[in-house]
Amino acid sequence: MPLTAFTNVFAGNPLDRSSYARSKPDWVAEKLADPASLALVIWNGKPMVEKREGGGSQIAYVRAAMAGELSDGAERLLFMGLWKETAVFALDLEGAADPADGPLEGLGRFEDLRMVALDLPGPDAAILATAKAMFEWRRRHRFCAVCGHASEASEGGWKRVCPSCKAEHFPRTDPVVIMLPTRGETCLLGRQAAWPKGTYSALAGFLEPGESIEEACAREIWEESGLRTASVRYHSTQPWPYPSSLMIGLIAEVEDGEATPDQTELEEVRWFTREEARTLVNGGLPGARAPGGLAIAHQLIKAWAEA
Ligand SMILES: [Zn+2]
Repeated sequence: MPLTAFTNVFAGNPLDRSSYARSKPDWVAEKLADPASLALVIWNGKPMVEKREGGGSQIAYVRAAMAGELSDGAERLLFMGLWKETAVFALDLEGAADPADGPLEGLGRFEDLRMVALDLPGPDAAILATAKAMFEWRRRHRFCAVCGHASEASEGGWKRVCPSCKAEHFPRTDPVVIMLPTRGETCLLGRQAAWPKGTYSALAGFLEPGESIEEACAREIWEESGLRTASVRYHSTQPWPYPSSLMIGLIAEVEDGEATPDQTELEEVRWFTREEARTLVNGGLPGARAPGGLAIAHQLIKAWAEA
């Protein structure tokens, strides 16, 4: 399928990651000092954004040198890539005090990425999702998984190296299969007890070691609904930085049989006709609703319903 066939929110980061150049510390340092270089800022997982001319929001960039000063070393800095000739960095800030009331006053405001994502241009949402995923990884992997020694950021932040045992650690991406089971002109959605009343969504679960994507899809459908899968079709994928998932969106045709919720993950499963599913994603089905357009589940239901 062509690369542009379908782009979910958080996919489509336009930066040139410059994987080879970023492995050279001198090159990264030179880019950080370059007055033309920019940096985005994340505080406690929230990106700094500003109003966009004509409506909506956009990334509020600061000078990279300023981010360098606020970072206090390499740990909180990430080289994101190049936008044409301009180097883009990211700065990770933590703590109780809002930096928008401190050193970054007047430069932007910090917003929850999920809340602001649909308000951002697609490329901005994807750049921020990349930075957030990388900083979530850093936060959770400060120590060497081999020997327990504190590890150090390397290659612009894209690798961590243990100074004790020399082990190298790379950012995680955890694959999740998310699928819409279908049978002819109906599709099956499930609901978790914790979700808001009337909310239905696609089935999902982590892919486990030793499984192919289609095997994980079939297992999850079997576990959550008691149905056997006949075939699996790929739709699209979505980076999901909570904290490091890749959602693999699938549409799966299932065999005859009664759908039964497992009562562990799902309290209810429900069949929808194609027309009901179409009304559901457009927000008009009484008593039932689907996740919003940010979620790949929404896109899966919509793609099948409107096919
Ligand atoms: Zn080690």
